Order: sequence, then C-alpha cells, then structure tokens
Amino acid sequence: MENDKENDIVLVVDDDSTNIKVIIDALKQEGFTIISARNGEMGIKRAMFSKPDLILLDVMMPDMNGFETCYRLKSEPSTRNIPILFMTALNDEDSKVKGFNSGGVDYITKPVGHRELLARVKTHLSLKRKQELLERLVAIDGLTEIPNRRQFDTVIEKEWRRAQRATESLSLILIDIDYFKKFNDYYGHVSGDECLRRVAQTLARSVKRASDFVARYGGEEFTAILPNTSRYPAVNIAERMRKNVESLQISHAVSPVSDFVTLSLGVATVIPRHDISPNHLIELADNALYEAKDSGRNQVKYAIDGDE
Ligand code: GH3
Ligand code: MG
Ligand code: MG
Repeated sequence: MENDKENDIVLVVDDDSTNIKVIIDALKQEGFTIISARNGEMGIKRAMFSKPDLILLDVMMPDMNGFETCYRLKSEPSTRNIPILFMTALNDEDSKVKGFNSGGVDYITKPVGHRELLARVKTHLSLKRKQELLERLVAIDGLTEIPNRRQFDTVIEKEWRRAQRATESLSLILIDIDYFKKFNDYYGHVSGDECLRRVAQTLARSVKRASDFVARYGGEEFTAILPNTSRYPAVNIAERMRKNVESLQISHAVSPVSDFVTLSLGVATVIPRHDISPNHLIELADNALYEAKDSGRNQVKYAIDGDE
C-alpha cells in the first residue's frame, strides 16, 4: 500500500503561485505527482482530464471561489468522488464550515505546514482507497468475479427508468447451467466452482456494448441486461452465449443432453411502462427459461408477452 503513493496525483488549485510552490515542495519529496491550476475554471478542466486522486482547493480566488468550484466538481459524475481539501486562513471558522457543507472532506489552514499537509493528504488518500475497495467488494461476486445480485438489482432499476424515459426496448436474459447438480455430485464442488468461474467469464465476454451487463443471479444462474436491445438481437446474443459455453467443452459425463456443460436461456424484451415493474421482465424471462428446460435444455427460448 505504501508504494501506491508514487502513482497518486494531487491537483492544487490556488491563485497564489507562492502557495502552490509550498505545496509542491511539501508533496513532491514524498513521490506524489502534482498538477496545478490558477483558478476554479482551469481546476475543473484539469480535474476532469487528469482524474486526480485528491484536490487541494483554495477558498479565496477571484472569479469562481473555492466553494463554487467544489460544488461544480461534486455535481460532475467524473469528478464527484475525488476528495477535496480546502485551504483556508487560520481561524476562519465560517469558511471551514462552508467548505464541509459544499462537499469538502477536510481543510488545511494557511500558511500551510508541511507535516500537517502530508498527514492530511495521506489520511484522505488511504480513506479513498478503502472506500473504492469496499465499493468493488459489495458489487462483485467473490467466486466468479463478475457483478453480483446486489449490483444486478441496482442496474435493472436504473436501466428500467432510462428505457422508460426514452421509450426504448429493454431485454433480459436468464441463464441456467443444465444438470449442474449432477455435475457437482460427479466431479465434486471444487470442479463445480471452477466450472462456474469459466462459464461466468465466458458469458461476460459474450456481450459487446459498454451498457450490456452480465451478473451472477445466484447459484448456477446468471443474467444479462441488454439496454436498447430489441427481441432479435437479444436472442442472437443469448444464442452466442449458449454456443460460447458449449465450445468450452467442459466435460459433463453425467448430463443426459450432452457430453459437455450446456446452458438453457430465457429471453424477454419489453418497453418499460409505469404500470409494470422490472419484476414483470424477470418473470417473462424466467418463463422462457422454464420452457427451454422443458423443451430439452441446451437451447434459447423467447418469452411471448401478453401485450405483444
Ligand atoms: P437443471 O438442468 O434443471 O437446471 O438442473 P440443475 O441440477 O442444474 O438445477 P438444480 O437447481 O437442481 O441444482 C443446482 C445446483 O447448483 C445445486 C447446487 O449444489 C449447485 N450450486 C449452486 N451454487 C453453487 C456454487 O457456488 N458452487 C458449486 N460448486 N455448486 C453450486
Ligand atoms: Mg437453477
Ligand atoms: Mg441448472
């Protein structure tokens, strides 16, 4: 962890070049990369472009002051999570409080002391790293390393609302490994886990758009959310997933349908409306999956919605 600081970028925004120099001197010897800006507008541009790990922001600047700059950085998704430390005159309690209220995490009093500056910068960088790690851990399934059910629940709600606003199709695929209980019983749980990992990674690689989302739904079930994707493209993607996993040729000596591990997939597409919920889409896909199982497994079925 200590070595990470070599890679940390700190952005200093201050109209006073002497203060910028003091900060560069204090942080450079510790191996940080320092970039600077002389006003709020430039600071925002540099923050969006360079994605610093932390921002030191002067309160008193002409044109746009530090609070306004902070507010704008916090409203912009690409810079929202960068910790901002205000630099303000000693004993200026109003500025300190205003700084916290506008989204700052801490303040440093001017004139800036080297050791205090370093201590606060290191503390906030370490907190930011832990925060990022936690955010990753709560969203990723530990075994397969693809997004988990919790993340699926968040994404389906978000994509549902987006598709509803845009009156666009939203497709969902539910994916279930065929005869996986038999696989586990025959090859053992360790092989079962390895199989789940390979299937998950293959499914994740089977989608192409940045907005496509593959998750572990639970057990040996997976799911894909395909925004702005209508019926036929969605069925094609499901078919590609089926073929890709079949091509892995993971031996399944006790499967009644194939020599290898296979999938059954259910696809559903809707244009979301306010009187139906994401559960409706999930139920449709689940019905199609049941039909795929019932029709002999190792195949894709599409759900026919009553509304179609
Ligand atoms: P079907 O073709 O009808 O889907 O049959 P199936 O055996 O795949 O379905 P069933 O739901 O009966 O069994 C699912 C199995 O998946 C049972 C369970 O032990 C196994 N499983 C679920 N999660 C894990 C896991 O994390 N690791 C391993 N190794 N096995 C798991
Ligand atoms: Mg199952
Ligand atoms: Mg199964």
